[in-house]
Formats: sequence, structure tokens, C-alpha cells
Amino acid sequence: MLTVTNSLTRKKEQFTPITPKKVNLYVCGITPYDYAHIGHGRCYVTFDLLYSYLRLHGYDVRYCRNFTDIDDKLIQKAEKEYGDKHRYTEVAQKYIDAFHEDMESLLCLKPDVEPRVTESMPSIISFIEGLIEKGYAYVVDGDVYYRVRKFAEYGKLSNRSLDDLEVGARVERNDKKEDPLDFALWKHETDKNFWKSPWGHGRPGWHIECSAMARDHLGDHIDIHGGGMDLLFPHHENEIAQSEALLGGTFSQIWMHNAFVRINQEKMSKSLDNFFTLRDVFKKYNPMVVRFYYLQHHYRSPLDFSFEGLDSAEKAYRKLCKQYVAHDADSGINLDTYLEQIQSNVFFKSLVSFVADDLNTVGSLGVLFENRSLDTESVAAGRFFMQYVLGLSLEPLPEKTVEITSEIQFLLDEREAARIAKNWALADALRDQLTALGFEVQDKKKS
Ligand SMILES: [Zn+2]
Repeated sequence: MLTVTNSLTRKKEQFTPITPKKVNLYVCGITPYDYAHIGHGRCYVTFDLLYSYLRLHGYDVRYCRNFTDIDDKLIQKAEKEYGDKHRYTEVAQKYIDAFHEDMESLLCLKPDVEPRVTESMPSIISFIEGLIEKGYAYVVDGDVYYRVRKFAEYGKLSNRSLDDLEVGARVERNDKKEDPLDFALWKHETDKNFWKSPWGHGRPGWHIECSAMARDHLGDHIDIHGGGMDLLFPHHENEIAQSEALLGGTFSQIWMHNAFVRINQEKMSKSLDNFFTLRDVFKKYNPMVVRFYYLQHHYRSPLDFSFEGLDSAEKAYRKLCKQYVAHDADSGINLDTYLEQIQSNVFFKSLVSFVADDLNTVGSLGVLFENRSLDTESVAAGRFFMQYVLGLSLEPLPEKTVEITSEIQFLLDEREAARIAKNWALADALRDQLTALGFEVQDKKKS
């Protein structure tokens, strides 16, 4: 029914949940120290599509997306903005609120649970204690490290051998560790304002947080774990090492990763300072155009972001709305009670079959555009698909208001003069010039 590409096996696989009809989905959330950028938007729209798809097909889905609300970046931001590193909770709250606004604008459904690291400390600490007991972790001067070589399957997600990894790890040698490959589970802090643990005061490493929060809210074994491609290594590799060492079995059956958003062929990221925040893009483009733009690209292909790309997405989206939404009034179908009936609609089935094939939204959009039949059934099926599968709003976009520059006004006046003089050849030539500049001239009959 649904096939997805599993990063763990590097294959497209049929999805079968551990418990029939129940799905536990974990997606790594943001570190709230700044506004979400369009790379974040792509990730959360991708998993929102998956979540909606599963729910629509009768699965009981539990979707968990966390907030990493304590981190070096939050502490630095608190120092910079408030002159007090302990005010990182205020930084976190500000950007969590902003993130929720952005997700709402993109019509992303709210996950069932959104745990925060600062509220999950007891389970993080007991997770680390369990790893120490089993010999997978050790304490040095109040820090706790994970013993990577003890986990025989380390590297299975990122397909790397320990030897390859060692070459990279030597560069940042830390003498406290037994082995350069080991990573921190707990970082000692002399500041008593941080959390108390059996190893002294401190705060957790990033990777352990997700292992602990996933276990807290979804259980020891989960169906699907998702995130951006940049998290595959080391973050997700380390999550597997931690969770499987403590809990045994396979931590997540399926690992799904969305590809990067790139700018000028480079990965867009905060650290490279080549990013656009969602809210800045929303000032110029309706969030539905942005959502549509994501859906026009397969989630596993890199998206080369450009404003020209957004402009053509807007044109295409308007066209699609004209095709399917404008017929609302005469379709007479109540979308909410339409689900049963629509499952057998041939056009709807063909649209859904693309999404069922590794979320191939590109294919389904092609079918939507190609459909020239405007019978009530297929128009209603298309609308239902747009709203409930693709998560697009059916509100028509407001007409775009454009500034008439003096150059455009000049051409309009010249053309009007030519028309009055009945110089049709000149009037037509001027109309062509206006068209080339992106303006469609419509002459209304004077009454
Ligand atoms: Zn994570």
C-alpha cells in the first residue's frame, strides 16, 4: 500500500507497521535559537505529507517531533540578546512560538506530541545510566561518553566503516576519551544552574536526547524515524547505537531522509549564512505557494531554491486552483463525507498511487495538470486530493497587485492614443511589448 525508501537498507520497501494499523513516527525537531528557514520547511512538509497520508488510510499514527531547547547555540543567543546565558529558556520559547506560526502557515498538522529536552531530563539521565550499566558508556571527570567500538553495528545507517571514521575523528582528538570515535552523552558543567546527575551537574549531548524522547513517547521500537539528510550522520547513527545498545532489537524499522535545499549548488544552512527564513519568504509568497513549491520536487532530490522557481510555482498553483477549486460552487459535494465514496474513484486512485510510491508528489501533480476532463466527479476528486493528501488550502490566492511603473504607464498611454487614432498596427505592437513585460492588456467595451 505504501512504499518508502529506507535509508537503512538503501532500498525502496513496502511499509508494514510493527503493530497492524498503528504507526509510531519520530521526526527530529528544531533547535529553537532562530527562525526556521526554508530547509526546515521542506523537512516538515515532507513528514506532514506522510503523516496525512497514513491517517487518511486509516492508520492510528502517533507523531512525535521534539524541540532541542538546550544547546550551545541557545546559550550563546541568550548571552547575546539578554546578556545572561541562563535566559536560554526565553530564547527557546520565542522561537518555538515562531516555529508554530510558520508550521501553521504551511498548514502542517500539529504532531501528537512535541517533547522538549529540558522537560525530559529524568529519562535522559536514566537512559545514560542504563548504557553505563551495560558497559556501553563510561564516566570521565563528570562527562559521560559512548563507547562506539563496543556497538558492533556502528556505521550501518551511514554505510561507513570504523576505519573510515577514525581518519576523520583523529583531527579533533579529545584526551579524555578512550577512543577518538566516542561521543558525549553528558557534558559536565561547573555551573550549578544546570541539571544535577549522578555524575555531577551538566547537560546532555544532542544525540541521547532523541533516543530518550522517542522511547518516552513512542516506546522501545518505532516504525519510522525521519529527518533531514544532514542528520543521517552522526546524529541518527548515534541514536541507533544508543537505543539498540540499551533496548536491543531494531530501534526504527524505517529511516527516511529528505534531501537538502540548495542555493547556488551549495547546501543551504545557517552555518554557511546562505539561508532564507520562512517568514521572510512568506512576506512575498503565500505559504501555500511555498508548500506547493516543495511538493513540485521529490523529497529525495535536492531542491535548488530560487525566487524564479517560486514565481513559476505560483503560476502553476494558480492554474491548478482554477482547474479544481473554481468549480466548487457547482460540484455540490461535501468533502468531509466524501472519503468513502472517493476511495473507488479511478482518478483519485491514480493520484494517490503516486504518493503511495515513495511520496511521489511530482507524479501526482503531473496527473492533476493533465486532467482535462471537467466532470464533477474528477474535479471533486482532484480537490479532495489537493486538500487532504497534499495539504493545500482551497482558499483562492489573492490576486497579485503589481506596481505600474512609469515605463508601463507610458506604453499604456501610447497604445490608448494609437487606438483612438485607429492605428491598429501600432496598438498591436505596443500590446506585444506589454505582454513581453508580463502584462496582459484587456480592453473593456465602454458602455
Ligand atoms: Zn534527533
